[in-house]
Parts: sequence; structure tokens; C-alpha cells
Amino acid sequence: MIGGGLIRSAESQTSQKTPKAVFIILDGVPADALEKLDPPAIRNISKAGGYTRAHVGGKKRNYNETPTISAPGYISLLTGTWGNKHNVWDNDVAAPNYNYWNIFRIAEKVNPNLRTAIFSTWLDNRTKLIGEGLPQAGGITLGYKFDGLEHDTAKYPREKNADHIRKIDEAVSNEAARYILETGPDLSWVYLEFTDDMGHQFGDSPQFYQAIINADHQVNRIWDAMKQREEKFNEDWLIIVTTDHGRNSAGGKEHGGQSERERTTWIATNSKQLNDRFKHSPAIVDIMPSILNHLEVKIPEDVAREIDGVPFVGPIDLSHFTASKDGNTIKLHWKNFSKNKTDKVEVFVTQTNHFKEGKSDDYKKVGETLLSAEAFKFTVDNDSPFFKLVVKTPHHFANTWIVSKNK
Ligand SMILES: [Zn+2]
Repeated sequence: MIGGGLIRSAESQTSQKTPKAVFIILDGVPADALEKLDPPAIRNISKAGGYTRAHVGGKKRNYNETPTISAPGYISLLTGTWGNKHNVWDNDVAAPNYNYWNIFRIAEKVNPNLRTAIFSTWLDNRTKLIGEGLPQAGGITLGYKFDGLEHDTAKYPREKNADHIRKIDEAVSNEAARYILETGPDLSWVYLEFTDDMGHQFGDSPQFYQAIINADHQVNRIWDAMKQREEKFNEDWLIIVTTDHGRNSAGGKEHGGQSERERTTWIATNSKQLNDRFKHSPAIVDIMPSILNHLEVKIPEDVAREIDGVPFVGPIDLSHFTASKDGNTIKLHWKNFSKNKTDKVEVFVTQTNHFKEGKSDDYKKVGETLLSAEAFKFTVDNDSPFFKLVVKTPHHFANTWIVSKNK
């Protein structure tokens, strides 16, 4: 748990359930298509917790705008940051910036006893985005992996209408369900691809809708395995199902741009700890801190200061943190979610971005105010083209940048 949100008595600690989490990405399913089909597994998960529309792509026409492309979406989820930080702009994944830690690295470094797993129809998720085994990505090893089947062309030869990918998704989801049921890993990622292939090939079409229904069956297997674990063991399972981008309005075959349909995604979860952020346009970058809250993994401060998402699971203090500069005055705004009228926010600023190179920034505290004030301003004595602003609240951090365009 981030901060001191929950204080448990000695008795409740002994009976406390072990938190476990699994997140599933169904590739390229726009919110309108999912809502129109209302498939049963995702509906049941949402009934147990909640369903919301969400967004990808960073802030439109802003310093953190990010293409609505698959790999940038997956790593936005994994690192809780946008493209200006993780530096993945397309599916080539040429030069990811591993200084922004992913969820597996945080989980394993903070608690080496946690068991992690990945079940994926795209090998690069593990080898490039997580960067398993790479020293620059922390040299972590996932506890279990079931992926790379798309490279086994003897077993899965390329088929018409990407039918080999449908079969691989079947194998991946079956294995995820089996492994979760039998061993109960603490943190798992399931990635299923076939929906996006049908979207690209047929656009908004019966074939695409059928792929979403298939994916829902696959989700159901995993949801079912989790529920069986909860009946047998003293475990508290979180499931989050989402997508990496929507599709374009003209037929749905494309994505990558910043149209509303491409930016609009969705999140379905069984969480019973959803906070008000879940109702206020959450983003894909909110998923990572939400899962870590559920797992009670405290994010190291230097990593937490850079995370662009705020949790929608567990305690929340603020979101929608923005900054603007008018002459020598920097003005900050946020949306307050704290019910405690005396809760404060501390404001920090730095003009460097050494974190990007794996070094630290020298933050200066410029003041503090009540969270409920929802605004703060201060003056600076120079005309730097770059300011990194961080606020610290009782339960988490939030950050934003000022980047002058004319410098
Ligand atoms: Zn995609």
C-alpha cells in the first residue's frame, strides 16, 4: 500500500488474504464495439467491480501525446508513463527507456518473494518491453513465461485470416488459466492479439465482433481459474481487462492517430476498492499504480515521482494535475479527491531531467497547500524552457512538465 492508508489490527493481519493480480490486454477493441456486444465474462467482471471508458494517447497536442499504436500502449500500461518517457513510438520498439521501471521490475525489486508470470501471443512483450534479463532493464527474470508461439512456424504455420493467431490466443489463455489455477502467481500479464488482426483485416464487421466474443471466452477461463483459487485458498484476486487502443471511425481498419475513437478505451475490473478516479476518465497509465496498490507493493519514491498515472484502486488524493507558466509565475491546478479537509499537498520543482539518463534530479520544495485548494502558484527567477513539477500527497505523487515550444 502506498503511504499509510490502511492500518490493520493484529487479528485482522493474521486472517488477511494474500493479494494476487492478473491484467489482460485484448488488442485493439474500441469501447463502442465492446459495449455494443456486452460479452458475458467482461460483463460479470464489471458487475463484481466496475466498468469505465478510459483513454490512451497521453494528452492530445501536448508534450506527452503518444501514438495509439500497440507497443506504445502496452508499455504505457507497464510503466505508468507516456511516450515522452518510455520512448516507445511504434511496434519496432527501437530504444525503450528502461529508466522508467515497469510493473514487474518494481514488484520483483520491492518484494523478491513475489511470483510473476507472462502469457503472451507476442514475444517482444517480454524480451523488449519488459526487457527480461537485460542489465539496463534491471536484469529481472519472470517466474514463468508462456510466449513466442508465433515463432514456432512448425506447430503454428501461417494461416489465412490469421487463424494461427486465433489458435495461439487459445493456447495462451488455456495455459494462463491452468497455471493460475494450479500455482496462483502473484502478478500475471495475459496478452491476446487476434481481435486486432480481425480489426485490421475486416474492420467493424461480423468477423471482428466474433473475435471479441472469442476473446471474452478466453477471459472467462482466467476469471474462472481465479474464482476457483479464491474458493480454495485465502487469496484476494484482482483482475483488470483492458485494451491498448481503439480504432478509426472510418471502418475501423486503422489506428495510430488521435481521433476520439482511437483514443477511447475501457477498463473492466472486479476490484472492490475502486475510488473516484475510476469515474473521471482514467487512463491506461493508471493501471500500474492501481495493481501495485492491490498487491501492497510500495513504489520506490524516485520511480513514483515519474509515474504519469494515479491509482483508481485504493486511496486517491488528486488527479488532472496541470501546470502553466505566465511570465515568471507558474500556476498549478488539480482535481481534489481527498475527503479529509486538512490533507495537504507539497509542491516540488526541478529544471533538470537527469532521471531520463538514470540519474537523479535535485527537486526544490516551493511550498505546500491544502489539497482542497485545487490550485497553487509560485514565481521563478529565470526563463528556463523546462520545468518538471511534482506534487506529493498523503498517498501518492503526481507530476507534469512545462515545455516551452519557442526555445
Ligand atoms: Zn494493438
